[in-house]
Amino acid sequence: MQSSTTIRLVNLPILFDTLSLEILPADIQAQISHIDACLPQTQCGLCEHPDGCLPYAAAIVLDGESYNKCVPGGQPVTDAIAQIIDIDINSNETTLIAAPSQWPIDATSERPTEVRAVIREDDCIGCTKCIPACPVDAIVGTGKHMHTIFTDLCTGCELCIAPCPVDCIDLVTVERDISEPERIAEQEDLRQRYHTHLRRVTEQLADSSNSRPVVSMVEAKLNNAASQSLDISEAQAKNTIAAAKLRSKIKKLEKQLSVRANDQKQADLEALQAELSQL
Ligand code: SF4
Ligand code: SF4
Ligand code: SF4
Repeated sequence: MQSSTTIRLVNLPILFDTLSLEILPADIQAQISHIDACLPQTQCGLCEHPDGCLPYAAAIVLDGESYNKCVPGGQPVTDAIAQIIDIDINSNETTLIAAPSQWPIDATSERPTEVRAVIREDDCIGCTKCIPACPVDAIVGTGKHMHTIFTDLCTGCELCIAPCPVDCIDLVTVERDISEPERIAEQEDLRQRYHTHLRRVTEQLADSSNSRPVVSMVEAKLNNAASQSLDISEAQAKNTIAAAKLRSKIKKLEKQLSVRANDQKQADLEALQAELSQL
């Protein structure tokens, strides 16, 4: 098993190239990876990161983004992230309240109630628009034929609802009681399915014999990512690492100052903040 400081975020789909995660110091990669591991991996984008859970995990660590934004994860995920980023619940800091969901909280999991998508097959016109929208490839069907969803694979991310021109996809609530190890294994599987989905779409776009138009947002983004140079300049790489180190120092000083005021530390904090804003 890898120790926490040797985790490396390597061989990621090209959609994540702009995050430049592979060049970050190992301990920062490990923290991002730990946060990603506790996220539900529905890739729903409700945390305002349409590219999914990993970019949100990176934003928490690298940009100090709020750690309570994962809607399907609810309070258990918010609390788990707080522990990873070392929120001291015994000091003045309190763990944030998770972003609300439109679905009621399930008493067993303490997370928002899970949903699954179901296609009303009589109404489906077989347009295929829902297929590329599904991040975990849970929808099957071919052009002009009725489509169906593998309920076992569906995460209820709702991303297939909007592209459907005849509004024939319903959401149904599900109740289930899974252990923490089962949930972690399921999330790992969903992460791999999402990466496989992204790689498959990338290959399809690169295939010159594929004349199908780009129909989903992720296809458009992958198109852009593939056409951009994948080289990251040395200066850009150094800046990313320096900024991550500065944020870590700033966070530590802010924590110390929240407990006790200190003029020297306050001056150090302001100097670090100025340095960061220049970067
Ligand atoms: S599951 Fe949570 S972290 Fe992942 S994309 Fe959805 S809201 Fe964001
Ligand atoms: S079938 Fe729809 S709701 Fe289910 S995972 Fe795919 S896109 Fe999300
Ligand atoms: S988008 Fe709607 S109509 Fe088109 S294939 Fe999917 S379920 Fe059927």
